[in-house]
Amino acid sequence: MDLSDLTIKEAREKLHKKEFSAAELVQASLERITAIDPQIHAFLTVAQKEATKAAQDADQLIAQGVNKPLLGIPVAAKDLYSTQNIRTTAGAKIIEHYIPPYDATAVCRLKEAGAIVIGKTNEDAWGHGSSGENSDYGPTKNPYDLTRVPGGSSSGSAAAVATGMCLAATGTDTGSSIRLPAAFCNLVGIKPTYGRVPRYGIIAMASSFDTIGHLTKTVYDNALVCEITSGKDPYDGTSADVPVPKYTSWLGRPIRGMKIGLPKEYFDANGMDGNIRRVIETATEVLKNLGAEIVDVSLPHTKYAMACYYVLVPSEISSNLARFDGIRYGYTRETFGQEAKRRIMIGTYALSAGYYDAYYLKAAKVRTLIKKDFDDAFSNVDVLIVPSFPSTPFAIGEKTTDPLSMYLSDIFMCPVNLAGVPAINMPAGFVDGLPVGMQIIGSQFAEEKLYKIAYAYEHETEWYKIKPNL
Ligand code: GLN
Repeated sequence: MDLSDLTIKEAREKLHKKEFSAAELVQASLERITAIDPQIHAFLTVAQKEATKAAQDADQLIAQGVNKPLLGIPVAAKDLYSTQNIRTTAGAKIIEHYIPPYDATAVCRLKEAGAIVIGKTNEDAWGHGSSGENSDYGPTKNPYDLTRVPGGSSSGSAAAVATGMCLAATGTDTGSSIRLPAAFCNLVGIKPTYGRVPRYGIIAMASSFDTIGHLTKTVYDNALVCEITSGKDPYDGTSADVPVPKYTSWLGRPIRGMKIGLPKEYFDANGMDGNIRRVIETATEVLKNLGAEIVDVSLPHTKYAMACYYVLVPSEISSNLARFDGIRYGYTRETFGQEAKRRIMIGTYALSAGYYDAYYLKAAKVRTLIKKDFDDAFSNVDVLIVPSFPSTPFAIGEKTTDPLSMYLSDIFMCPVNLAGVPAINMPAGFVDGLPVGMQIIGSQFAEEKLYKIAYAYEHETEWYKIKPNL
């Protein structure tokens, strides 16, 4: 059985009709991992034993006529997600042998819906990065071109779904880390509103930014997974007590009359490849032909976003990583990788007496202005459309010696995290055989609008059907 073209929706139908069993589906997923992961390096841990047992349990439930939305579906979890009895490293050597005694809330919810965790995926250590190259275990490769990066930090999650090693995967997005690998691997990736999906059990990067979301092949699959994981959690005080719409029921509704804003600052950006611009213009035309109204908007504080992000995020990182001080987890501080060390130093500096007001406090104020830009824009339009990344996937090694250029390349994504609003990456075309993504950004808790527009766009274009040659 080939999982490359299979979606969750199709797999559920076939399981229901008994065209194959959950055991066969999970077996196929494990075989695919064995066959191609040595080239890709998407997985840090494969939960063969646990997944095989869970598949048997799922088959029993199916035989009893139980119907759950993800029953028997193999999914992968980013290695920042705590998984009970399954090793969880955060992509970092420092906690190489950590076996959590509990599941993150998002994992619990997926399992309750019947999903089977097939393994844990590779990532930039602690979530610090845009390429996957900061993993302490070595990089993941882009399935569309093995010499290029798959995007980070949820690199393994993206590569695993893109190659059919599983049918969906979880990610975290602090500044780009779901949407960017989705863009580089031709997938749908949602960064929901901050607080929409609980953070409980996710190893923290920057707590006021960290957002839990998912990577899938299609919009339907994404909406389905997100309606399962969303909603208040008593274990996470920042999870939102806002009702969760049934996102899947918003798919297929007309988008005529919806107002789409194009923020001029994103299209004036220096260094944006002309081919990327053309892809986004073509995508905008598609939406216009479906009856959406396109208007120009401005997000005037965009130029401060990266400076603001790289003060606030390292500050929160330096605080969160202080717990891995070598006392509780055997290893010593020396085993933090280069990038983690860099961020701990920047953050500690920004928070230290005498500098706090000049850096941290100032950046916190700028963050409020950036959020207000989005609020103002959304008083006028339903969603914003922007590119996901200024270029196609770059080569492995291309930016590793220049951390600043790596940081700055997240310019189209980090403002969303500063504002806490939701955004989805949609496959929007190919340039020289490499995938290009487009973001649809919404106001807080407007995920259903994103899914509605994304679905309409997907239906017209079907870029997701272009698979890597593996
Ligand atoms: N690339 C960004 C960073 O390195 C985003 C990381 C993330 O979203 N986890 O901070």
